[in-house]
Amino acid sequence: MFKKSSLGLLAMAVSFVAMAATASASCLGVSRTINVSSFNAAMGANASAGIGLRHKEVVLTFDDGPMPGKTVSILNALSAECTKATFFMVGNMARAYPSLVQRVARAGHTVAHHTQAHSHLPGTSMARARAEIQNGVAMVNKALGPMRSRSSRLFRYPYLARNAALDRVLREHSLLPFSAYIDSTDWKPISSDAVVNRVMSLLNARGRGVILLHDIQSRTVSALPKLLDRLQAGGYKVVHVRTGRMGSPAMASLPPSKKARKKAISRKNVDRRITASIKPKSTRTRTVVTSSRSSKSEKRTSLIGRLFGNNSKDEVTKTNTRKKVSKRRASKAKAKPNKSMSWREKRRAESLARSKAKRKAAKAKVKRSAKKGETKKRRFSLFRNSIKRKPGESTASYHFRIKRARELANR
Ligand SMILES: [Zn+2]
Repeated sequence: MFKKSSLGLLAMAVSFVAMAATASASCLGVSRTINVSSFNAAMGANASAGIGLRHKEVVLTFDDGPMPGKTVSILNALSAECTKATFFMVGNMARAYPSLVQRVARAGHTVAHHTQAHSHLPGTSMARARAEIQNGVAMVNKALGPMRSRSSRLFRYPYLARNAALDRVLREHSLLPFSAYIDSTDWKPISSDAVVNRVMSLLNARGRGVILLHDIQSRTVSALPKLLDRLQAGGYKVVHVRTGRMGSPAMASLPPSKKARKKAISRKNVDRRITASIKPKSTRTRTVVTSSRSSKSEKRTSLIGRLFGNNSKDEVTKTNTRKKVSKRRASKAKAKPNKSMSWREKRRAESLARSKAKRKAAKAKVKRSAKKGETKKRRFSLFRNSIKRKPGESTASYHFRIKRARELANR
């Protein structure tokens, strides 16, 4: 009985395979999958021979995306032919369109890397090139989110420009440089038919190869269905390339974004302001604390010092900090003058309010004149007339003020 059921299962499996076979007869499909694992195999003197492509086998690759509209059309064309490709994504694009990155991965295609901003790496400094590579991978991985494990180790040099030093960086990060020997030149201003014809003639001459396309070009979007048809008609088979998981800890974290950095800095300022306001004015004496302390206890002591006015820092640094705080306060203060303020704070707030009002009035004047339908030139001349050269003012300063007025007028 046990045998019988397993036989039944086998029969089901066979029929399923047969179904799959009939399905793949109608579309191009994927003939086999190659797991790329060695550095030289991926690049090599001849990439298609390196990864072991047989006669009439091709690999489809799309660079520079993902891009809204276009990448989805490419995915649709590929799924209509039930075939798989590799997408070499630019980090900045991945960061801008993470949902597209995930969509590519979800459709079963290989997600690969193509630097952060598509720089010509041999033309930049080594540090910059390294950052381009690392950030590019980190951005794509971040965009993948929960599907991060789907990120491959394949990397394509922008403009296929490489050197030995860059190869070493890739090796450090266990990335595999993946080249392309069938260049569709779909980035040139040619027709989509020309793209198809070029790929087919190169393929017919070489018999196999990795096809380079770009999923950011509309001509590629319209060329792809035709190209897939021609490949099938020409008896070509699509091979899907994959790699093992990426295991480089260097790629694990992105450098903090501009926004995060700003947030951190502003938080620091808030902390300083709070501690500065906690400190009572009457206890500004200093106490000397021995220098042999761990940083942790130092932190604790200085916090206690701030809370109870016993600041352990030198008087000089203390006054410097106080100056800095007051400067920062002056630049940041937006509060209106009120009774709880000290006379100094009040004066500062009043002067800030005055200059604010002045700026507001100037802006309003520009707006009014714009409403009247005056040209920018007229608005500027109005401004210029209102600016009188102060007695004893230097020419440079006067011209600077006029320049500033022109900028305001042109706003
Ligand atoms: Zn590219």
